Amino acid sequence: MPHRARLTVDLSALARNFGTLGAVAAGAEVAPVVKADGYGLGVKRTSEALWSAGARSFFVARLDEGEALRRSLGPTRPARIYLLDGLVPGTTDRIRKSDLTPMLADPVQVAAARGAATDGGPLEVGLHVDTGMNRQGLSHGALSDLSREGARGLNPILLMSHLGSAATPEHPRNTLQLQRFRQARSLFSDLPASLSASAGTFLGPDWRFDMVRPGVSLFGGGPFERPDPRIEAVATLDAPILYVRTVEAGEWLGYGSGLRLEHRIRVAVVAAGYADGLLRRGGGRASAWFAGARRPVRIVNMDLMAIEIGDTPARPGDRVELMGANLPIDDLATATDTVAHECLVRLSARARRRYVRS
Ligand SMILES: *Cc1c(COP(=O)(O)O)cnc(C)c1O
Repeated sequence: MPHRARLTVDLSALARNFGTLGAVAAGAEVAPVVKADGYGLGVKRTSEALWSAGARSFFVARLDEGEALRRSLGPTRPARIYLLDGLVPGTTDRIRKSDLTPMLADPVQVAAARGAATDGGPLEVGLHVDTGMNRQGLSHGALSDLSREGARGLNPILLMSHLGSAATPEHPRNTLQLQRFRQARSLFSDLPASLSASAGTFLGPDWRFDMVRPGVSLFGGGPFERPDPRIEAVATLDAPILYVRTVEAGEWLGYGSGLRLEHRIRVAVVAAGYADGLLRRGGGRASAWFAGARRPVRIVNMDLMAIEIGDTPARPGDRVELMGANLPIDDLATATDTVAHECLVRLSARARRRYVRS
């Protein structure tokens, strides 16, 4: 057993989560979002598994993510690949070459897309309308202009927007965004429509339209920023114990001057740290799973972390779970003041990756 952190990606659990999202979204297409290297779990293997489970449309953020996904899916898996970054001027040739579909997100991109029309016809694009995130997307006014012009010079195939507060179902922004999206849709009523990511998919039938775009819930995160029994863990991070030590009261543990021990404690020092993608601020907040119970994480350094194990027998080589079925990423995220998305995408290349089917 190598003395390093190991990231196990369960492709069967991923496929089951895809099936669960499909059942929840009943009738809507489930188009996985596999940006940032498949949420850190490897876009090649995860997108292949999702294709096998029935996915035919995918979303990525960056152009090079789209190119990599097209290469890895290859000619035998001709998926539709949408680019959330849209059409950055000057990238048309690459977009055409990899057959990507840009989600146009502002008037500059609309102009660039019109300029990209060829004898073969206008470019296939998606229209991203901003309904209240104020980050990217066409304004309602810009969308009305497009509609009035009959989307001249473009071949739109999808209308989408993105929710900013869906993880908080009672938040007033949700219904505001839904109303605005319905108005936008009345301008392009022939186009398939997509509003929701993972959280929105679970808000109810009104939110699902023709397509949902889950990312984090495919990869094991609950839709509402807490563990959800319908969603299975996909990523398991574990690492071996290197040393078992007792630290006396009055001593300091690890770096810095803050952590002086009030009591003597027994710790397992584990071969994982923030270089493996854990968050340093997990020290004193997060838990690890060892010998059938959650254990407090006391410190997270670059290569080593210490967990408090009481009197539990432990030996070098025993493995500690740092994320997984016993330690849901949402709990880890809550403990470290972030979201499951960040816990996933931080997983680094140092952890040895393996793919399994369960
Ligand atoms: C990242 C993203 C998603 C997926 O979000 P999750 O919360 O991971 O499900 C969907 N749509 C857009 C526009 C995104 O940027």
